[in-house]
Amino acid sequence: MPGTQIYAIANQKGGVGKTTTSINLAACLAEAGRRTLVIDLDPQSNTTTGLGVDAHRVGGSIYEMLVNDGVTVGDVVKPNLHPNLSLLPAKVDLYAADIELVYLDQREYRLQRALEAVKPQYDFILIDCPPSLGLLTVNALTAADGVILPLQCEYFALEGMQQLLNTIRLVRDRLNPRIHLFGVVLTMYDPRTKLGAEVVREISEHFPRERFQTVIPRNVRLAEAPSFGQTILEHDPRSPGALAYKDLAEEVIARAAATEATHA
Ligand code: ADP
Ligand code: MG
Repeated sequence: MPGTQIYAIANQKGGVGKTTTSINLAACLAEAGRRTLVIDLDPQSNTTTGLGVDAHRVGGSIYEMLVNDGVTVGDVVKPNLHPNLSLLPAKVDLYAADIELVYLDQREYRLQRALEAVKPQYDFILIDCPPSLGLLTVNALTAADGVILPLQCEYFALEGMQQLLNTIRLVRDRLNPRIHLFGVVLTMYDPRTKLGAEVVREISEHFPRERFQTVIPRNVRLAEAPSFGQTILEHDPRSPGALAYKDLAEEVIARAAATEATHA
């Protein structure tokens, strides 16, 4: 078993499946017996609510942990929401962090430092990033081993990608030499349209090695699940969406082990 793997689920575009992937990939990694922590780093708090935690009543959240030196992961984590699945919740106050962090010491390393102490407790840590390339995302990229990039199967899927890839490069040069594009996951694939197949082909050409073979289909069960505060494994474990995220989890586990082996 490799050491703790930390992945930032990032794309500065909104609505591409970052949160859906964070919740359900985490749920499937947990179900496969991997100790998993999901970090909600988006002020919209959709990962928090999607896992059934009321973002208005959460008490301590990741905001306090990032801006106050005395607040630790242990103070704010929601442990074992499901077997093997814990959450660092967010709430709306996190909007202030992108600005407040500017004035803090070690502003790009706040998340990395906070995670250091708890890393050994987890096999996988997934960070759901906000739809921007501000300091919150930079904190995620600084703390992570790799980026998982969700791309929606639509025209313009690759638009804006250069900015994200440049940001990853900048973070690698200055803040975190480990960070790299770990994988690209295609989301909301509709097999009935020609467009879907075309986009899959285009993205495969762009990211031949990074692309995961698993493609996440457009599946209404995935869209419904968060309104019940449920992962897809609770909401409809036999749905095409659930099966796809289980396959993706297997791919992530295998690729993580292979990556670790080459870097060891
Ligand atoms: P992001 O976090 O990148 O903004 P979300 O994961 O919140 O994206 O997804 C955007 C919207 O699309 C949400 O309403 C979500 O429920 C829906 N969605 C995401 N993935 C799928 C899918 N595979 N099938 C159907 N709906 C999806
Ligand atoms: Mg989101």
